[in-house]
Amino acid sequence: MPYRDSFDRPIEYLRISVTDRCNFRCVYCMPEEGVSFIPHEEVLRYEEIIRIVRVVVEMGITHIRLTGGEPLVRDGIVDLVAELEKIPGLDDLAMTTNGMLLERFAEPLAKAGLRRVNISMDTLKPERFHKITRLGSLEQVLKGREAAIKAGLCPAKVNTVVIRGLNDDEVVDLARLTLQPDWHLRFIEVMPLGEGIHWADDGVVPSTEIRAKVEAALGKLTPVHSSSGIGPARYYQLPGAQGTLGFISAITEHFCYACNRLRLTSNGRILPCLMSNHSIDLRTPLREGADDEALREIFKKAILSKPREHHLAEHTVPECMLPMSCIGG
Ligand code: SF4
Repeated sequence: MPYRDSFDRPIEYLRISVTDRCNFRCVYCMPEEGVSFIPHEEVLRYEEIIRIVRVVVEMGITHIRLTGGEPLVRDGIVDLVAELEKIPGLDDLAMTTNGMLLERFAEPLAKAGLRRVNISMDTLKPERFHKITRLGSLEQVLKGREAAIKAGLCPAKVNTVVIRGLNDDEVVDLARLTLQPDWHLRFIEVMPLGEGIHWADDGVVPSTEIRAKVEAALGKLTPVHSSSGIGPARYYQLPGAQGTLGFISAITEHFCYACNRLRLTSNGRILPCLMSNHSIDLRTPLREGADDEALREIFKKAILSKPREHHLAEHTVPECMLPMSCIGG
């Protein structure tokens, strides 16, 4: 049975950032130049991550998602997946990726035991894709998505951060993709995290506005349950659609009442809430020889310190920079 926080929410999901490095520089996440990364010796080693996952699975956490930065830029990531997959009690092992390296990694990851991937893709226009990610290629990401589906990493959900004036003119075209098989897409409201602060006011496109635009063009959306989600999205389907359309509305319709997760940063800090400055150091006790019971106590403390809800709408900006597109569950 999972532990419950002070508001009786069961905590069954841990998102682990395996690196803060990335091969993109998305405009709402990182500056183009001069990003200061965490020194290597401060980043959790794989054996430390494996031990942490063993400990939390014994506490009832059954879902693990590997994120970054971009998880596929870290050497040995397939080996990490293979080791995590062996841990008894772990029901779901997933990854959020920008997709750039997925064509090469999809099959080895699936063979190692990864179940599914979420892929970030904010536009269907190649030039705009390059403008948003600064270093990415839409063609390559689409090939990565195809490879993921072929390898069985399904559903391969696509995360789209919507920003007014940047890509909000494409929401209908993006939603239309879900009429086809294997297209599951989620629209995410831009959040004031990292470089997202620059769009904190005018850039937010409320999910209600996106839904209205999509319905006006493509027909009424019917609410559906996600087959794989225990995350923050609300899911719908267009008339005749084979895929699903999700909305992650962290700003305008927050989902804190159902929050079931913790996050572990690449330098070993537990974030009880992604959108708060509060974090708890796990790496120091881990490296100073803490036993499993002591690690469990630290996680219990983190669970009990989860706030009731975030205050992003009031612009409480976390000091720790976190990739926005990795927020979707
Ligand atoms: S949003 Fe994701 S893909 Fe883009 S720079 Fe940040 S970590 Fe990399």
